Amino acid sequence: MPVTPRPATLWPPNHVTTDILVLGSGLAGLRAAWAAAEANPSLTVTVVRAEAGPTGSSFANRNNALGIQLPDTDARRAAFCAEVLALGDPGLMDPALVAILAEEAEARVRELSTLDLRFRQTDRGARARFPGCGSLEARALIFDDLLDAFNQFYSKTISCGVAFLNGVEILGILTNDGAAWGAWGVEMTTGEPMALRGRAVIMALGGPAPLFARHQAGRGSSGLGLGMLADAGVLTANEPYLQFMWGRENGAFLTPARLLGPGNRLMMPESVLPDASLLDPSEAVGQALNELRAARALHCPAFHHRPQAVLDRLLLRGLHPDGLARVITPGGEIRAGLFAHAGNGGAVVDEHGATTLSGLFAVGECATGMHGANRLGGAMVLATQVFGRRAGLGATQYAAGAELMDPAKFDQCYKEVVRHVEASEEGRLILQTIAHGLSLHALFGGTPGHGDGLKALRADLAELARSSDRRVRLAALGGLLVSRPTGDAFQADFWQRNRTQITPARQ
Ligand SMILES: Cc1cc2nc3c(=O)[nH]c(=O)nc-3n(C[C@H](O)[C@H](O)[C@H](O)COP(=O)(O)OP(=O)(O)OC[C@H]3O[C@@H](n4cnc5c(N)ncnc54)[C@H](O)[C@@H]3O)c2cc1C
Repeated sequence: MPVTPRPATLWPPNHVTTDILVLGSGLAGLRAAWAAAEANPSLTVTVVRAEAGPTGSSFANRNNALGIQLPDTDARRAAFCAEVLALGDPGLMDPALVAILAEEAEARVRELSTLDLRFRQTDRGARARFPGCGSLEARALIFDDLLDAFNQFYSKTISCGVAFLNGVEILGILTNDGAAWGAWGVEMTTGEPMALRGRAVIMALGGPAPLFARHQAGRGSSGLGLGMLADAGVLTANEPYLQFMWGRENGAFLTPARLLGPGNRLMMPESVLPDASLLDPSEAVGQALNELRAARALHCPAFHHRPQAVLDRLLLRGLHPDGLARVITPGGEIRAGLFAHAGNGGAVVDEHGATTLSGLFAVGECATGMHGANRLGGAMVLATQVFGRRAGLGATQYAAGAELMDPAKFDQCYKEVVRHVEASEEGRLILQTIAHGLSLHALFGGTPGHGDGLKALRADLAELARSSDRRVRLAALGGLLVSRPTGDAFQADFWQRNRTQITPARQ
């Protein structure tokens, strides 16, 4: 039976009080809100979001479709766990979280079916299965039409009594005495500060990809979540392990397996090959090229710490000052750039989505541990459902026994943090500089061949992290986390061993 949404208290002006505050309305935020409202109808649940419509990588991504892993037999569950753990190495992983993903997948997908999502079907009307990136087993489902998916999720949360507050840009978690007491931001049309008080806070603001100038995250993503976690002193991990994808200037997907195929050459920048000569990939990579191309063809994002990453590194070596590699093919030149796609890092969480900050829960691309260095295709959408629900339940339990912060004390904390929220022109330019710096120097664990560029960028970010401009501070804090070199020893070693082979190819 549908429940009338129970609004949060909106008094005094620009102050919101609710029991459970959900930040962000992607798949993770909406699943968490749905679970919380269903679990304890006496608590108010409010989703705060930047835009009213479909947003984020969940509902506004360029593919208009999403895959979700469905390990639904013992054999599939075992294979799923083995693949996820193997792919995640050497990132920080919690096998218990991976096991939960496997065990609860079937129930969560069954719920998605009740929402009537548009799952692809076989000719015979059964649900079609696909191998996710990094997997050989056709185990994942795909649903199309993300506007429809958003509408289904939205109706579901509304029918459970969840309230929505639109047009708010979140800029921080309000902390005091080692606990989260709410969040704060600005009302986007007026620029007025906004105080959000809650007993428990669920952070579902998506990942850090938008920090990069070239990224493919969906509309409405800010990329500032990691910075907020760092600012609030929350323990995070796996931050530099973003998924990166190759694409044309307009973002259209490209794969290194094809880019480095027979007959294609790389026009290297003058800094690498002074005569601007063409490089034959087989001269740089050697006999292993075809084997590595075959391995690389099995996944769209570049995989960290895997032998086939040599191909991504080779293309990265070939980036010109505009950030694009030139691949000369018999059919003409292809310009390829590396786009930040989605993060595998975030807050370290327990099985209920609880972070190291009491009262703060993190989900979706704000959380990690169920993914490591690399992620199985379709495992993130599954994580939004499994851990979204768990965080909603965890927050409900926490909120039932937690006090709201005393209004006067809350006001005092809030007034201390909202002093630097004005968006200045200078701040906007600095944000662009950060984004370009990351897309130049911090690609795929540290763009190779850029000398001290990454070091210099990180020194600038450390300085900017002390900025009084709030957005600059958050972007710089997040930038510092995602630009930590991953120390991909294999690639460095490979390049060292093959350095002598980087000679101009004969044309
Ligand atoms: C093109 C593309 C295809 C993908 N395909 C797959 C796939 O097939 N399978 C899979 O498992 N994964 C896939 N992914 C990854 C997956 O879609 C995302 O990781 C997942 O949807 C993230 O969900 P989320 O709820 O954590 O974040 P999001 O969906 O990004 O939602 C974040 C929410 O927070 C809001 N927000 C952000 N910052 C602020 C702020 N400062 N103030 C207010 N609101 C804010 C946003 O507007 C949005 O509502 C894909 C990603 C992309 C980009």
